[in-house]
Amino acid sequence: MRMQLDIAQSYVDQCVRAFAADQLTAVDAAKAKLVTSELAVAVADLGVQLHGGAGYMDEYPISRQYTDARVTTIYAGSSEVMKIIISRDCLSEDYTPFNTRNF
Ligand SMILES: Cc1cc2nc3c(=O)[nH]c(=O)nc-3n(C[C@H](O)[C@H](O)[C@H](O)COP(=O)(O)OP(=O)(O)OC[C@H]3O[C@@H](n4cnc5c(N)ncnc54)[C@H](O)[C@@H]3O)c2cc1C
Repeated sequence: MRMQLDIAQSYVDQCVRAFAADQLTAVDAAKAKLVTSELAVAVADLGVQLHGGAGYMDEYPISRQYTDARVTTIYAGSSEVMKIIISRDCLSEDYTPFNTRNF
């Protein structure tokens, strides 16, 4: 979990640099939204599993953390919509990989 969070943080940091250089695209942002929200759900889900039955109880913060993470794949653009944005870019004629851009 820690490894995946660190990798996602690295991409988000790159996006912040791109934003500061006025070069962040909607596709970059969609990738950041998709990877971080899906990862938040996966990590919170493992946290619930780790707690066993207690993880399901409202008294335990991990239960609320899972609920809070879960909605991030739905609101502000669902994961499916992020995938549509990203795939349109990947299949376009002028697709440019993120790591080949300078900022
Ligand atoms: C807590 C919360 C706060 C919110 N706050 C705001 C806010 O402040 N401002 C605001 O404007 N909205 C807000 N929303 C609304 C939120 O943006 C929508 O819930 C979200 O866009 C999904 O739309 P929907 O609920 O109508 O689901 P639907 O559009 O009906 O989608 C249902 C499911 O179908 C999938 N789907 C839809 N279209 C496609 C497609 N073409 N291809 C594949 N899959 C598809 C979706 O990904 C989703 O999984 C909020 C929602 C919640 C839960």
